[in-house]
This record gives sequence, structure tokens and C-alpha cells, in this order.
Amino acid sequence: MMNPLYDRYQRRINYLRLSITDRCNFRCIYCMPSAGVDKCTHGDILSYEKFLMISETALSLGVEKIRITGGEPLVRKGILPFLDQLSSLQGLKQLVLTTNGFNLLQMAGSLREIGIQRLNVSLDTLKPSRFESITRIGTFEPVWNGILHADSLGLPLKLNMVVMKGINDDEIIDFAALTLKYNWSVRFIEYMPNSDGSQQERGLSADDIYQRINAIYPLEKIDSHELAGPASNYRINGARGSIGIISALSCSFCSSCNRIRVTSTGMMRNCLFADSETDLRPYLEVSDREGLKAAIKSNVDKKPRRHHVGWGNNHSPALHMSKVGG
Ligand code: SAM
Ligand code: SF4
Repeated sequence: MMNPLYDRYQRRINYLRLSITDRCNFRCIYCMPSAGVDKCTHGDILSYEKFLMISETALSLGVEKIRITGGEPLVRKGILPFLDQLSSLQGLKQLVLTTNGFNLLQMAGSLREIGIQRLNVSLDTLKPSRFESITRIGTFEPVWNGILHADSLGLPLKLNMVVMKGINDDEIIDFAALTLKYNWSVRFIEYMPNSDGSQQERGLSADDIYQRINAIYPLEKIDSHELAGPASNYRINGARGSIGIISALSCSFCSSCNRIRVTSTGMMRNCLFADSETDLRPYLEVSDREGLKAAIKSNVDKKPRRHHVGWGNNHSPALHMSKVGG
């Protein structure tokens, strides 16, 4: 049994999120500018080998769960063999992936064979024309069919909806109602202002989201387990699935935050909203595993007690979500 990794506030750090690419086949309005983000060059993006080295080291330090995110992870070449190697690393209890779902029709079968334990699929609307406006260049049908396909293969699914006032908040109830039919966890995520700091008026608080659903479908609170994320979880009476509400901004989960993140260029971050980061590349380039271990530990030691962000202040993350992995 590994020695657990704790930060200075006695939070156990056991969850690593790897953003393996900053590229994406969508341009969601809440995540990227319409022209896309400045792409890192291929040389800047860590090789799979280096992501494996980070993962092995983090697992040896007590990490148990790894999430692969991006950008869109399923557009990076060679993703399936990489996931296959990752899934067999010692100490890994949970391997999960966040995707926009566009490639699921083709890839869900392989993801299941590899042993991905759950897929988080971002879906912000059930209306095809609105889907095109929100993602700018995406199409709804492949995503929806991909979700249904993954479901038919028995892959556990979480659907993530970023709730934006005046854009898709009229669909909150339709999304909640999906849990009556499907055994999915449908999660409502507070919109976060990102590095352009704009559109603060889009935000709808977790409490407002809860009130809207509860007024139509009374919600029962359900418990979440140790490796679960920062959602408050509920169920509509008799529903097959569950509902999660994620208050990313209101900081109610900082006290139990168990995450660390690594960006596609090898920068380690303690918090989505933290400005400080540690460059892991010097250790990766010379395969200095002891140095890497020490760098990860020292970064964890600096994990802030809480973040300071809100719709009304200037503390938004310095990077676009596509770079940090959302
Ligand atoms: N491309 C994949 C996807 O869309 O699921 C993975 C990367 S995406 C950056 C990860 C998550 O970040 C998504 O669930 C997305 O909804 C969330 N996200 C991005 N920008 C956000 C914002 N401004 N507010 C809230 N969530 C955001
Ligand atoms: Fe791409 Fe995901 Fe960002 Fe949308 S949220 S632009 S799918 S990385």
C-alpha cells in the first residue's frame, strides 16, 4: 500500500488530471475564442511517454485516479494505445476521460475494451441548431449518437452541461428529465469566467440551478464516495440516473479538493484558478524520476487553501480551459 500524499491542509491528493492536448475540433463559446487558442507547437506538447512517466510517478506518490482531458483528447493521434498503456499502470484504481463526444461512435468500443471506467461527455443543449451556435463548428447528431452508443456498450456516463443564462438555461429541466430515462449522471456546471474575463452576466449560481430543478422535480440528496468529484448529488424520485450540481466558483469544495493537474505542455497546477505552476519538463527530459517526484511533492505543498474567483472579480484563470483541461 502506497503512502498517501497530503498537502499542508491535510487534504489527501489522489486525483491527477492530464490535459493531453490543447487542440480541439469544437470552439465552444465558453471555452475558446472563435479563432481557437494559440496552438502550442508539437515540440511543446508532451509525448505520451512523458505523460506515462508523470502518471507512474504520481501513482507511486499515492495518486489513485487519473482523468484524461484536453482540448479534445480523442483527436490526439495515438490516444488509444496510450490509454491502453496507462490503464495497466500499477496503483491505478480509476481511469476516466472527458470528451466532447464527437468521436465516440468510432471509439467507444475501444475505450470500453481498454477499461476506461467512465466517460464524462460535455453536452450543453439538446437542440441541434443551438448546439452549432454553442460549439461554433460542432454538430449535435454524432455526439448524441455517440453517447447512445457508449451507453449501449455499458460504459457509465456523466453528461456535463455548462449552464449559461439566456443561452441554454431554458433546457435545465430537459436535462434533468434525461435521468428519468437513462442511468446517467447529469451534471450542471456553473459557468466560469475564463482568461478573457468576459461574459460574467452568463453565470447562474448552483443554488439557482438547484431551485429551478427542485421546483419541478423535488430532489433527494444522495451521498458521494471518496473519489467522486466536487458535485452535490441528487436524485429525482424513481429516476434511473442522478443529478449533480457543481459550484465551481463558490468554493464549497476547496476544503476537500483532492486534485492536481498537468497541462499539455507539462506545467503542473494545484488548482484550476491558481496562477502558479511548476514546470515538470526539466525532469522529464532527462528521465529524472526522483527529481520529478520531488517537484510534484513540492508543488502539492504549495496547494492553496482555497481559490478566489467569482463573476464579480478579476481572478479568472490565466489560461483558457482548453489548456488547463476544465
Ligand atoms: N473537450 C473535452 C470536453 O469538452 O469535454 C474536454 C476538455 S473541456 C476544457 C473540459 C470541461 O471544461 C468541459 O466539461 C467543459 O464544459 C468545461 N469548461 C470549459 N470552459 C468552461 C467554462 N468557462 N465554465 C465552465 N466549464 C467550462
Ligand atoms: Fe473543445 Fe471541450 Fe473546450 Fe468545447 S469545452 S472547445 S469541446 S476543449
